[in-house]
Amino acid sequence: MRVEGIDNVRRILCVFPRYTSSFGTFEYAYPLTAGVQAFMPPQGLLLIAAYIPAHWPVRFIDENIRPATAEDFQWAEAVFVSGMHIQRQQMNDICRRAHAFGLTAAIGGPSVSACPDYYPSFDYLHVGELGDATNELIARIGRDPSRPERQVTLKTADRLDMTKFPIPAYELADIGHYFLGSIQYSSGCPYQCEFCDIPGLYGRNPRLKTPQQITAELDKLLECGITGSVYFVDDNFIGNRKAALELLPHLIEWQKKTGYVLRFSCEATLNIAKRPEILAAMREAFFATIFCGIETPDPAALKAMRKDHNMMVPIMEAIQTLNGFGMEVVSGIILGLDTDKPESGQHLLEFIDASQIPLLTINLLQALPGTPLWDRLKRENRLIEDEGRDSNVDFRMPYEDVVTTWRACMGSAYQPAKLLARYEFQIQHTYQNRIEPPPSRERSSWRNIRLGLTMLRNIFWKVGILGDYRLEFWKFALRRLARGEIEYLISSILVAHHLIMFARDASRGHTNASYYSLRLQQASVPAE
Ligand code: SF4
Repeated sequence: MRVEGIDNVRRILCVFPRYTSSFGTFEYAYPLTAGVQAFMPPQGLLLIAAYIPAHWPVRFIDENIRPATAEDFQWAEAVFVSGMHIQRQQMNDICRRAHAFGLTAAIGGPSVSACPDYYPSFDYLHVGELGDATNELIARIGRDPSRPERQVTLKTADRLDMTKFPIPAYELADIGHYFLGSIQYSSGCPYQCEFCDIPGLYGRNPRLKTPQQITAELDKLLECGITGSVYFVDDNFIGNRKAALELLPHLIEWQKKTGYVLRFSCEATLNIAKRPEILAAMREAFFATIFCGIETPDPAALKAMRKDHNMMVPIMEAIQTLNGFGMEVVSGIILGLDTDKPESGQHLLEFIDASQIPLLTINLLQALPGTPLWDRLKRENRLIEDEGRDSNVDFRMPYEDVVTTWRACMGSAYQPAKLLARYEFQIQHTYQNRIEPPPSRERSSWRNIRLGLTMLRNIFWKVGILGDYRLEFWKFALRRLARGEIEYLISSILVAHHLIMFARDASRGHTNASYYSLRLQQASVPAE
């Protein structure tokens, strides 16, 4: 549904800010692709764009693809912005540019909802999810689009039922220029890990769309030109297991109908390993990757951060179970925990060797406002406000030791030979457990073939000829070519190349050690 009952017409410019260069945005992979320029279509802002009254003209600009121009600002009557903490500086910069054109600037999304104080210059703060605050914001701008005298904060008290969410306005985005497609089935998570702001922001009782909404969204994503993979951005895909089981048969049917042209991935807690019926259905629906916040291999640390659910099945056994259903595990890891010891870095590297997980997002602990961790560290007087640091946590270990450990782990884990050996393992022990999708016209379309050939050409030229890890690359690539594993060659090298290049920057100290760090880095300069 859309908001209704507003007669005036307003032109709205929705601007999504640039990401600070980070491990999880894969920008080193883009030059190897056929025109990818950004990570994932932003669900929140595209949802708002779809909710705005149908007769209001809307422009959507993702500044990861192109900056909003003077012409865009001159066209608009108000600017809507959304984003995460890591985009804070860029969001404030968009506000400054909007004001330079005399425009009203409104901000919503996860960052402002958790930390309204971060955004003192915006005219409207939209705190919380889509709901009565959104209606009020649209009504106010409908009545008068000029800037209010002082900042107005609108808080959602009554959230819109997710079954009434419109399909995000994917048609406004250059969907073909994204690395991954994105889709959301549920919001919220029943657990309460100490460091996580999800339960506080979105609740512990997951709210849901209907399976029919999801298949309609997938249809629209396809129409808009998505290829490759679609990521379920749900905080925890099995936050409501019954709902996951209800959705999966619809996804399987959709895959059959559309010729398995897409693969799926999602985030879920590691205790999904205890639910073979869910995993079997995910395999049938062609889920290829699953992100699990393993955080640490240390059971004492898991207990301390209230993530005991990671220990319901021994971690290594759980990973093997997921691999057995054809799903590659991607793991979140945190360094700088209170339980860390001088040997924690070495233990992490041993865990990586044993698990054979290729991709691990290794971050320093960061205390997010609104989390139990924040409250505890505040009580213990261990929060540090210093934008020159990679974390706002006063670690138990010396700060320099923790950052040095992070750099050393990044440098070691992503050495080309080690990383490609882990991909070799996945190809032989995980990917072979996936379903073999039946040949379909959609999968072997000329467009897909052309995309594949373009990526192969880029990979051979930029990595195989110009790259400085040519030897390791060709050892890996020749085995794939000999076995006809072209798809695996492309998918592995796209990700591996990013990890290798990013980890090099990291081990030289050129990147942030935390996804949430506020440290200003070169890539976070404004898009202008
Ligand atoms: S399981 Fe994941 S989403 Fe849920 S509270 Fe823990 S970290 Fe957050």
